[in-house]
Amino acid sequence: MRFLKSVLIVGGGSAGLTCAAFLRKAGVAVEVSEISTTVNVGAALGLSSNALTPLREIGALDEILACSTPNLHMHVCDADGRTLVDLERPQPAGIDFPVNVIIARRELTRILTGVVEAAGATMFFGRQLVSMLADSDGVSVVFDDGREARYDAVVGADGIGSTVRRMIWGESPIQATAEVGWRWLTPARPSMRRGAYYLGSGGTNLGLFPIPGQQIYAVMGEPTDDGFVSDPAKRREDVVRRLGEQFDGAFARDALADLPSVEAIHFSRYPAMLMPQPWYKGRILLIGDAAHALPPHSSSGAAMAIEDGAVLYDELLRATEWEAGVHAFMERRWPRVKQVFEMACDRVRSKADPSARSLRDPHTGEKVKSLWKFLLQPF
Ligand SMILES: Cc1cc2nc3c(=O)[nH]c(=O)nc-3n(C[C@H](O)[C@H](O)[C@H](O)COP(=O)(O)OP(=O)(O)OC[C@H]3O[C@@H](n4cnc5c(N)ncnc54)[C@H](O)[C@@H]3O)c2cc1C
Repeated sequence: MRFLKSVLIVGGGSAGLTCAAFLRKAGVAVEVSEISTTVNVGAALGLSSNALTPLREIGALDEILACSTPNLHMHVCDADGRTLVDLERPQPAGIDFPVNVIIARRELTRILTGVVEAAGATMFFGRQLVSMLADSDGVSVVFDDGREARYDAVVGADGIGSTVRRMIWGESPIQATAEVGWRWLTPARPSMRRGAYYLGSGGTNLGLFPIPGQQIYAVMGEPTDDGFVSDPAKRREDVVRRLGEQFDGAFARDALADLPSVEAIHFSRYPAMLMPQPWYKGRILLIGDAAHALPPHSSSGAAMAIEDGAVLYDELLRATEWEAGVHAFMERRWPRVKQVFEMACDRVRSKADPSARSLRDPHTGEKVKSLWKFLLQPF
């Protein structure tokens, strides 16, 4: 790639690490600058085959499969654990790995970091960007450790609160849905053998999904219209109350008995942010949640972030100059990401309308099937 010798990637999440591995395949010198000093230690997430395919291209698939659990159904139960919906996710032709797997975030980050380092990218942890100055053929950057460097391009993969986006596009309010959620890991119990969503009596959903190591990924969500925040001081209490009052099966009693300390319970308002296109200005490009933070209802935010890296690689390889490459990237990414974003937003609930789009609604099954089908389309 004659027009692209060096790239700084800001952010070492799914987007940044996948992109780094792809750019190394093209022989580009890559630096990844991650603000935190440790790997991402969130709970877990699902990866569908459209994400697993590019992850195979960068050599991460085998380890991901070894460290994850297939998740092949949409299984919805009532508050007592009785099955209401049980949809099998079709296995796509020509794909010799599960159509969806659940993996701990810590494991995914560990695997991708290993791939990126083995591919020869340099990773900096605990380093912040202080300023960027772009011109027609590169970007000059200053970091908080005083280091100054110049790159042919900068990729902002620094998540929904992106510093790169703020520096170049200006402040934008964080856009969120009217839904919030808690996530944690809990020991596997016989009451939780199958992955399922449970519908609580007061509008709260609880998902329990097995992952390797005799663990369960627990994710609990509910509608809110009043800006509710589960403050760390009360967070454990918030979860205890909902588990105790809204669910009645052994699965809930076990989850309650095993509830970890507050530091291990992640809370967030569910995001919904789609930047207008283009996601680049000159030599600076945004990918992943920095450009498109999807509500979790499509389980596809990380998948879209991973696809970004694969498509960027593909289009830069074909191009003879940066501008043409990122323009072609944008042409391919915009319709697909917008469609998945809209499908996810369509399933978001609010207090005023908590059940109309809930998992119990028969239309939801149809919507989920359409999403599964759409995700399998070539990107
Ligand atoms: C409840 C919930 C459930 C979800 N479940 C799924 C799922 O099942 N499947 C799925 O595909 N997606 C899921 N998602 C979405 C997924 O988590 C995100 O889309 C994905 O993590 C985006 O990856 P990213 O690398 O763009 O951003 P992030 O994961 O946010 O990574 C950004 C990285 O940049 C770093 N950073 C931030 N600022 C700076 C800075 N200034 N300098 C350097 N580094 C910086 C951060 O520390 C972080 O490591 C879910 C989201 C939520 C909220």
